[in-house]
Amino acid sequence: AATLMWFRSDLRVQDNRALAAAAARGPVVAVFLRALPHWRRHGHGANQLDFRARGVAALKASLAGLNIPLLHRDIDDFSEAPTTLLEIAREHGATALHFNHEYPLDEQRRDAAVLAAFREAGLEARGHHDAVAFAPGELLTGKGDYYGVFTPFAKSWHRQLTAERLALADTPAPQAETGIASDPLPELPELEDAPIDGRHWPAGEGPAADRLERFLRFRGRYYAKQRDFPAIRGTSELSPYLALGMLSHRQCLQAVLAENGGSLAEGDAGLVAWVNELVWREFYRHVAVGFPQVCRYRPFQAHTEALAWRDDDEGFAAWCEGRTGYPIVDAAMRQLVATGWMHNRLRMITAMFLSKHLLIDWRRGEAFFMRHLVDGEFCANNGGWQWAASTGTDAAPYFRIFNPTTQSSRFDPEGTFLAEWLPALAELPAKARHAPPRDLLGGVDYPPPIVDHKAARARALEAFKALKAG
Ligand code: FAD
Repeated sequence: AATLMWFRSDLRVQDNRALAAAAARGPVVAVFLRALPHWRRHGHGANQLDFRARGVAALKASLAGLNIPLLHRDIDDFSEAPTTLLEIAREHGATALHFNHEYPLDEQRRDAAVLAAFREAGLEARGHHDAVAFAPGELLTGKGDYYGVFTPFAKSWHRQLTAERLALADTPAPQAETGIASDPLPELPELEDAPIDGRHWPAGEGPAADRLERFLRFRGRYYAKQRDFPAIRGTSELSPYLALGMLSHRQCLQAVLAENGGSLAEGDAGLVAWVNELVWREFYRHVAVGFPQVCRYRPFQAHTEALAWRDDDEGFAAWCEGRTGYPIVDAAMRQLVATGWMHNRLRMITAMFLSKHLLIDWRRGEAFFMRHLVDGEFCANNGGWQWAASTGTDAAPYFRIFNPTTQSSRFDPEGTFLAEWLPALAELPAKARHAPPRDLLGGVDYPPPIVDHKAARARALEAFKALKAG
């Protein structure tokens, strides 16, 4: 009897644990459920929906090489997943279903319902922990709690890591023809937020593997030195591929082991720093499971619930549209909207600017990022936003508020990134681009700052202090 392999954010045939387990049982039939209305309701933007659709097409081609047919169904809501999958199982006489776990609450609930429905129908169903080295719950503090702070989590991650956890799953050998035809893949319907040009982000495991190889060959060793400078392509730009599973973290870590004399924790400083980021990715997934309130739009730090965020639609619009008058913030927001990606240093600067300088609820920023990011991933996005807003794990102490102008001169010293995204400022001398003096601007069309750094900082401090007092 056939086994169903349900693909979600693991769009690859290499090193895919659920696929390898399904293939070990016998013939495999692959399934993809497209839940467009559900994803739209949950704030997924056109950029990622388009990237995902192209990823499914690439997956279909890889599966065809293994004689694995791919069935494609549209559902309106996650609640339809159990019946749709059971129907497919009955139609093709499948007796088992395999998938890889996803960790946000909504996805966990969908999967629990699917597991229950299959069990009830007398069929086997199994979830695999594929996107993390440790399943949530496997790494706990001495007291048996989930880690709420990164550094001890990372220590424990390194200490308990074994070769087996990093072992790559076998790519299935081509199976005999099943006689089941793959479904044609429907076009993505027109969405009001049209996706950016897909050539920025070619989808599939081929392009993902190429990027990983190029990153490690040319940039990995300089990562620690270059990663904070947005004008330099110092980071891997692999986040969209990791978010949708066109590449696995194990493939990344194995490649590091090969380059770094078999170590993830010692050796080349660049590679070790890069591994640390992959551990952050895993940490936030554990946080989503261990502290499910974060999946319910609640702060990790409960006492920040009462923070008096400002209603400021104009300020929010200026931030979204990159016209706050702070060049580093504006250039970053333009990069996001134009490319569907933003450099990590800039994600921190823009998120802090919205939540601290404008004192606007971080959840509005989180949603805006989700609508634009090709790599939009609930756990990392929520974790990053809550960090910046000082409501999260490892809470940046609320009084440590980035000065955007200082950040700009430190991390874009020549104003190169600013000039790229705000061409009007390219006319100014490099040093003047970080905080353009009005008298130098002349005819240049660039707005004055919408808030004064010092005053905005004082306002944010007051709001956080009121919380403490209250
Ligand atoms: P690299 O520096 O090459 O890092 C390698 C990989 O590690 C990344 O591809 C990513 O998978 C992971 N990673 C790196 N930094 C982090 C981090 N801080 N937290 C979790 N994982 C990390 N990352 C997302 O993948 N999706 C998001 O929606 C997202 N939203 C963010 C929002 C905010 C406010 C902040 C501050 C950070 C966010 N990040 C998010 C984390 C980080 O900014 C991106 O992963 C990174 O910029 C992607 O670029 P890269 O692939 O070149 O990263």
